[in-house]
Amino acid sequence: MRRDPPSAANTAATHAGLASARVRDRMVERVRELGVRDGRVLDALRAVPRHAFVDEALASRAYEDTALPIGHGQTISQPYIVARTAELALEGIAEPRSARVLEVGTGCGYAAAVLAQLFGDVVSIERLRALHERARENLRGLRLANLRLVFGDGSRGVEQAAPFDVIVAAAAGDVIPPAWVQQLKPGGRIVAPVGADEQTLVVAQKGENGALVRRATEAVRFVPLRGGVG
Ligand code: SAH
Repeated sequence: MRRDPPSAANTAATHAGLASARVRDRMVERVRELGVRDGRVLDALRAVPRHAFVDEALASRAYEDTALPIGHGQTISQPYIVARTAELALEGIAEPRSARVLEVGTGCGYAAAVLAQLFGDVVSIERLRALHERARENLRGLRLANLRLVFGDGSRGVEQAAPFDVIVAAAAGDVIPPAWVQQLKPGGRIVAPVGADEQTLVVAQKGENGALVRRATEAVRFVPLRGGVG
């Protein structure tokens, strides 16, 4: 297991007992009760200190199974959703340690850190510069050599790092952007919320012939996927 980064927020949280194994275990147990049974995912959740990704004022709530504000109108995803997305991503991948993943919507970097525990190579793109930089700071102490952060509009994918075995999105568009399908390897999969008012978490697998086979899993609520950068 990795050690917590020695950041100021982390030290404060440790003093408050927030980083204790018991508090983290309770969060992981809650996620398991909600149906995430993949032990690799539960171990990854246990390994990443979520309090290091939220403002100090919210650190006392970091291990609740809930989304929390991270500024700029965005949120850190609910742990259950991060876990469920990771579980669906892993499902189709025989050797996750040699798989390359694109995450669209880095936000504070929490899900990227969880994905980096599970997959060989993770690229995460964020369209808001302030959050991209915040994520870089949040992640510094974790020293995840297999995680790369990119600033830009992820609805165009990340051409220079393609092709990907998996693309996961943390923001919902009306459709799956064509660039993602193009940048996905045959046999690879996309896990993404799709829809406007009503969103569904969709798993789309790319066949050897290039066609997508979609499956809707559950109703979800993500922030919108927006074009351009800010
Ligand atoms: N993965 C984060 C969730 C962040 S919320 C976590 O671990 O909690 C989703 C993020 O997607 C927001 O930061 C938002 O700015 C970003 N986003 C929305 N549209 C985007 C786009 N087209 N490209 C890149 N990021 C985008």
